[in-house]
Amino acid sequence: MPHASHAAAQTWKLVGEHTAAPLRAIVGDIVRQHKAEMAAAFYGFMLDDPSARPFLSVTTVEARLKPGLQRWMEVLFCTTTEEELAAALAMQRHVGEVHARAQIPVGLVAKGLRLLKQHINAHLVATSLAREELVHAVLYVDMLVDVAFAEMSSAFIQFSERSVRTDEAFRMFAAGRDLALEREKQSVAILEWEARFYRILAAGSMIDEMPTLQESEFGLWLHHKAPLLFDDSRELPLINECVERVDESLFPQLAHGLDRDPHSAPNRDLARAVLTQIEEIKFLLRAMFDRLVDLEVGRDVLTQLFNRRFLPSVLKRELSLSRRNGRSFCVLMLDIDHFKRVNDAHGHDAGDRVLQHVANQIMNLVRGSDFVFRYGGEEFIAVLASVGLEQAAVIAEKLRAQIENQEIPLARGQSVRVTTSIGIAMDDGHPDYQRLIERADKALYAAKQGGRNRIVTG
Ligand code: GH3
Ligand code: MG
Ligand code: MG
Repeated sequence: MPHASHAAAQTWKLVGEHTAAPLRAIVGDIVRQHKAEMAAAFYGFMLDDPSARPFLSVTTVEARLKPGLQRWMEVLFCTTTEEELAAALAMQRHVGEVHARAQIPVGLVAKGLRLLKQHINAHLVATSLAREELVHAVLYVDMLVDVAFAEMSSAFIQFSERSVRTDEAFRMFAAGRDLALEREKQSVAILEWEARFYRILAAGSMIDEMPTLQESEFGLWLHHKAPLLFDDSRELPLINECVERVDESLFPQLAHGLDRDPHSAPNRDLARAVLTQIEEIKFLLRAMFDRLVDLEVGRDVLTQLFNRRFLPSVLKRELSLSRRNGRSFCVLMLDIDHFKRVNDAHGHDAGDRVLQHVANQIMNLVRGSDFVFRYGGEEFIAVLASVGLEQAAVIAEKLRAQIENQEIPLARGQSVRVTTSIGIAMDDGHPDYQRLIERADKALYAAKQGGRNRIVTG
């Protein structure tokens, strides 16, 4: 079982010590007597809540959760010795981890606990306790539940963070090691399904001898593994739509039509429509893999700089390094001035050349310990390690002048010049890296407002 935090154990002990033993005994008795009724009320309320429904089934509630909650209440309200206390706290952490694995929202648990408090309090009010004792008893219940909830939530968060890291690591692993293989396998799986479809059509066999796309090897991969690799891709939902269209609309129609007349024109159209969907799936699959390769490598394809995906990790790391070694670092945010005009006058390819040129200029100027990102279309961020604001301003000014003074060669002997505006911000020890970005962005805005082709320190 996970270890409870020392602070929680202390608080809990104090709560117990500040409440007279007879009061604690009364609360314990109430819980022992009414635990079944309270567990029923708790889960009645949960099963009624639409946000709780996805996590609960009536059978699990009856068989496992109600008895579990009763045990939990007994442990919480009837502990006396130090060992029992430690076990009770460990239980809270365990419950928190279970909730994290089941992805039960913390807010939902909070709601349920409020309901339990109300029930216990209602029973307390019905006793013959004097007013002052009643207040003590109510506060005691309140504090116990709050400490339990805090322990639960802290375990919940720790576990969730760990699993996010694991998910990420898994994605990197899966992507880095097996991506080419994965891609090959799935292209083959789709091709095989397609070939089988052709054979069935040619032989005039029954279409229901075919597995649906969802049942095929590709379909299984799509359902089980693809979401892990491509969770935020725009192609994945489109591929799923194609699969559904084939399985739920085209296939049933085709099966029906082939039964009646294998060679009719509508059947040929339906078969062609299936093949069109397959082509679409192949295209989307290729695009989805292509983008994942770029993204997972962490580089922007055009400029070869880091893409912004790793910016948070780098900033978080720099922040903690600078806290440890007491040396500040700076962020430069650079934006090409009137870049739209370059595109408009010379075309998009020329625009791309300019972006590559500016990226190279930045890379050549910064030190090996600095990080350069393509932040947006024509925006770049440089994270300069171990420098103060003045030094960063010198670097930025050098960069600005250098870019301004260089002709950028384009196709057909043409060339173009661009200028840049740069905003600079130095880390001020604030733990939220987003604030640093915002300050650099503000400085950049001021540089633009001030007439462009200049640097501004924020
Ligand atoms: P400002 O001085 O205010 O920054 O003006 P701007 O024209 O540079 O800024 P704006 O944001 O209006 O335009 C940015 C343009 O950058 C628009 C977009 O088409 C272009 N762009 C973004 N990404 C790329 C790219 O990868 N290649 C090319 N060629 N153009 C791009
Ligand atoms: Mg811009
Ligand atoms: Mg611009």
